[in-house]
Amino acid sequence: MILNLIAVAPLPTGELALSWNDGVEQYLPLELLRRACPCAVCCGEPDVIGRGEAPARSYKENSFELKSYDFVGGYALLFKWADGHASGIYSYKLLRSL
Ligand SMILES: [Zn+2]
Repeated sequence: MILNLIAVAPLPTGELALSWNDGVEQYLPLELLRRACPCAVCCGEPDVIGRGEAPARSYKENSFELKSYDFVGGYALLFKWADGHASGIYSYKLLRSL
C-alpha cells in the first residue's frame, strides 16, 4: 500500500493532526515539526563528497507558528512558518518517522 495523507489539520493545542490512509493518526507538536525541518538552510548542504556541517539553527518566537501548508507532488508537505521560513519539504516518510 502506498502511504498517503487523508487529512491535515492544525489544532489549537499547537499540534498538527495527520490522518493516514492506513488508519494511523498522528499528532505532531509544531515545535518538533519545525526542528525537524529537512531543508538545506536548516541541515546544511553537503559538498560533492558528502562532507558538510549542519549550521547552527536559530529560531524566533514565531518560528514554531504554522502559517500554512501545501501538498507537494503527492508525496510530501511544504510548511510555511510565521517567521517566513518555507523551504522545508517534508516527505510522508519523514513525517511518519517523527
Ligand atoms: Zn528549514
